[in-house]
Amino acid sequence: MATNPSLDPYMTRPKVYLLGRQAVVREELARFLEDEGVVFTTDAEAAAEVLAEIAGRTCYMSFGKGRKSNQEYLDNILTSKHGSVLEHAVWNLLIAGVSRSLTHELVRHRAGFGYSQLSQRYVDEGDARYVVPPLYQQNEALREKWQQTIDHIRTAYVELAEATSQYVQQKHPEMAARDRRKWARQAARSVLPNATETKIFVTGNGRAWRHFLELRGSPHADTEIRMLAVEVCQVLKKESPNIFHDIEVYDEADGMPAVRVTHSKV
Ligand SMILES: Cc1cc2nc3c(=O)[nH]c(=O)nc-3n(C[C@H](O)[C@H](O)[C@H](O)COP(=O)(O)OP(=O)(O)OC[C@H]3O[C@@H](n4cnc5c(N)ncnc54)[C@H](O)[C@@H]3O)c2cc1C
Repeated sequence: MATNPSLDPYMTRPKVYLLGRQAVVREELARFLEDEGVVFTTDAEAAAEVLAEIAGRTCYMSFGKGRKSNQEYLDNILTSKHGSVLEHAVWNLLIAGVSRSLTHELVRHRAGFGYSQLSQRYVDEGDARYVVPPLYQQNEALREKWQQTIDHIRTAYVELAEATSQYVQQKHPEMAARDRRKWARQAARSVLPNATETKIFVTGNGRAWRHFLELRGSPHADTEIRMLAVEVCQVLKKESPNIFHDIEVYDEADGMPAVRVTHSKV
């Protein structure tokens, strides 16, 4: 639902908001190091990178030994495919401006992800926004045809939801207004198109995000989710150069950006 009616009802690119990152509880780290009589210093700034290194070093109690820099340490994790260590690095992203068809693909990524998505039962989709498929963004005539179809469906949805609400009221006069609206929306939403915009809050760990970027940033993926992977890649590379440095955005021959990964599925 567009909470601001002045917004353009048609959206053309995903929006990624980085809402959460981790913090190291320094006093507790110091307490552990003192209890164990070991030393640990790091040149990493991102808590996610520091936590992943600490997690990895816990395996062999290698604090203060071996590889010196965080990048050197995490590089070895990537090349040796000791990917579970990257599960200790976590980011929370709020994603908007994406279609329901994109999120249907996104939520197929199970391991290491948590999702909370806008409900079409509780939220009135009467003034929903719609995501223009990238191909239609390149061709005015097709976009026009697409937009007419969407406008038609939008009107049909509003009329159907209203008629359904009246029917539920007649059939169940005892029902609370809130429940009646929910019943009406849950039936009427069946006519909403895949292009309907949605918002989804996604929490994922470093290993899971890497896998997502590899599969969905590829030229074989659907173009809309590929554009999302490009955005997410840019955000996460900035957040953690050491966990994502072997993953890069490049320009594919088809004229669109894509993501390529050196260390596949760690
Ligand atoms: C280009 C492309 C086309 C696709 N086309 C289709 C399609 O036509 N139809 C369709 O249904 N899906 C399709 N998918 C979705 C795909 O099949 C996966 O569901 C999706 O990419 C998530 O991948 P995943 O299972 O590896 O990820 P996750 O669920 O995040 O799992 C990550 C990894 O954990 C391990 N894992 C997770 N769960 C289990 C388990 N239960 N048992 C054992 N190991 C597990 C696996 O190693 C897995 O790779 C497509 C995906 C892509 C990228």
